[in-house]
Amino acid sequence: MCSLFTSFKPLSSKRMLSALLKHRNLHTMSEFIQKLNPLTGLNQWVVLNEDYDYHQEVARAAFADMLHDTERNNMYERALKVAIDHMHAQGKKANVLDIGTGTGLLSMMAVRHKADSVVACEAFKPMGACALEVIKLNNCHDKIKVIPKRSTDIIIGEDMEFKANILVTEVFDTELIGEGALGTFQHAHKCLLESDCIVVPHSGTIYAQIIESPLLASWNRLNNVFNNDGELEIKVPEAIKNCKGTANLHDVQLSQLSEHSFNSLVEPQAVFRFDFSGRTPFIYERSSVSIVKSLRNAIAHGVFMWWDLNMDIDNKIILSCAPHWAHPLKTGKAIPWRDHWMQAIYYFPKELKVSQGSEVSLISCHDEYSLWFNIKEGLKVTDADYKCPQCDCNLHNAYARTRIGQLNDAKRTKKFLRIIDDYVNKDIVVLVLSQGFYAGLVAAKRAKKVYFLETNQVSRYVTASFIKENGLENVEIVDASGVLLAEKANIVLAEPYYTTSIVPWDNLLLLHLLKKFQASLTDDVRIFPQKCIIKAVAMQFDDLHKIRAPLGTCNGFLMKPFDHLIESCEISDEVVEAQPLWEYPGLAVSETIEVASFSIHVPNKESNKDLKTTFEVKPGFKCNGIAVWVDWILDDERAEYSTVTSGPVVATEVGKTVQWDVHSRQGVSLLGNREMPSVFDYALRCDFESAECTIEFKPVS
Ligand code: SAH
Ligand code: ZN
Repeated sequence: MCSLFTSFKPLSSKRMLSALLKHRNLHTMSEFIQKLNPLTGLNQWVVLNEDYDYHQEVARAAFADMLHDTERNNMYERALKVAIDHMHAQGKKANVLDIGTGTGLLSMMAVRHKADSVVACEAFKPMGACALEVIKLNNCHDKIKVIPKRSTDIIIGEDMEFKANILVTEVFDTELIGEGALGTFQHAHKCLLESDCIVVPHSGTIYAQIIESPLLASWNRLNNVFNNDGELEIKVPEAIKNCKGTANLHDVQLSQLSEHSFNSLVEPQAVFRFDFSGRTPFIYERSSVSIVKSLRNAIAHGVFMWWDLNMDIDNKIILSCAPHWAHPLKTGKAIPWRDHWMQAIYYFPKELKVSQGSEVSLISCHDEYSLWFNIKEGLKVTDADYKCPQCDCNLHNAYARTRIGQLNDAKRTKKFLRIIDDYVNKDIVVLVLSQGFYAGLVAAKRAKKVYFLETNQVSRYVTASFIKENGLENVEIVDASGVLLAEKANIVLAEPYYTTSIVPWDNLLLLHLLKKFQASLTDDVRIFPQKCIIKAVAMQFDDLHKIRAPLGTCNGFLMKPFDHLIESCEISDEVVEAQPLWEYPGLAVSETIEVASFSIHVPNKESNKDLKTTFEVKPGFKCNGIAVWVDWILDDERAEYSTVTSGPVVATEVGKTVQWDVHSRQGVSLLGNREMPSVFDYALRCDFESAECTIEFKPVS
């Protein structure tokens, strides 16, 4: 069953789970899952069978990372104890309800601190089954009733004997409310809890910090392209320039941003308080306006967002997700690392130029599941400013944030422009086998004719709008059906980039496309890039390895059944996952190794390859992962000027932090707690003969 997942867009950690929970029909519990169709490049919802194997999802959801979060676990335990003791001090019984029990952790803590009754519910069936096993192993099965249901389906008198007076729950995601916390709390207060109940946590606060950051802007808005002489080459269509973008979550480990990459316009503002205690009504749609004075002359691009939780009734235990510069613990080292909750970036629908000392209105809005933000000069806020932004230019629907960043990377674009200047002229017919490729548009200004491949409807729309805006009449958009082109191409250009790609070598789809178009290429066709090099380095990550590491115990409870769940996934087919490694610091602990290198030809001259790579880890360091990426060499004779990488932006040095390209995801194979010897082998299988051109990368056991 695991093969079902191979074309699944990997979301790291709890992002995945929230996506699942948001989109699964939780009321009927019919299982829907989002799968990427590699042929169309579109995500589609697939209904799953009863015998569907969830192990992967549980592992991907990185429950492990959440359970490795000792600060979170301890704060929940302390606050739960305070609540139980408080009930006992008042001469009342402590009847605990744990909504979304996961492994049963919080319920077992309630037992440890002498709750009189504990009911645990879990909507996600494989997790509920796991909770039962964990609870039994820890001898708590007599004291905890597990209900494998969503809380909103629980009926008092049937599933639960009586109402609870303590609610403990952790149904929060990076956006706080994205997992449906508001509905869960409201229903619990109405149907499952006594009116004198204590809720852990009892409130949450959302913070927003207005910032200026060209880096951020480069993930949201496309810039015009200029040539080496500073002349305009490609103009971004007005509709794209003025698009309000989307409110889609852009979750990022903000603490990893270099401090030079942004300016703060104001101190972080508390924009929403959510009262979970049930003492005030739940409101699903709200807005707030914070009037603030800017600390500097700047362009406001968007906000950084994070939240904190008040865990206990005395407000002594505060769980903060703030980045290091705003964290109550101040010192970097003490701040807990977590991947299941990050911070997020929200882009304003329109940038605003602000002068020092001037007043601006920060508008914050939320609905049941999401947040969005806007900014206006002074107090000039109108109804329209509260609207949730929706992309109408399609760029923001077609491309990931990092892709927009790539297109804005002028150094990267220059490498393609140089090839065009050297090889493309009025006699040349160019075939562009990449999606959303600026270079293809520039080539059109020099070439006789350009055929532009677009297999994805949404990105085709974007490309067409660029062609129109720039008056390019010699461009024809083609699909991948392999129909003969009217004129044979003498040059093939590709970054290559495809919206369907997940790990860097998925872009080898180029080989497959070349085969399809073979009959439309001249005998002496030149193909750029000319070469593909797959590189890898052994890593000692500071923290990232934890997302796949078994737990052993968690706050003193045995977690073996859960560890089994995670470990059973390691034998699955997807050993390498995609991660934006700039967000996850780590040291290179071996030399960078060229694991495979091959030329791009048509017809493809490469046969399937089984290769072995040996990593030697520098003494004194521990390897807990392997990072893998691809360098595309556009022009082999001038490799140093024409290499486009998805890996490190400066050469790696053994024992030093790696500086990764911030606009790419790298492949990473995480080794969990596995002890690696100082010298070990990895096997690489390159399959060039099948349509998919897959590459498997596995440790030799
Ligand atoms: N309480 C555990 C797990 C937290 S993860 C811990 O702290 O370690 C959140 C879990 O809540 C997920 O397993 C999810 O499936 C579940 N969940 C979310 N909303 C729920 C609801 N309304 N009813 C039941 N389970 C829910
Ligand atoms: Zn848009």
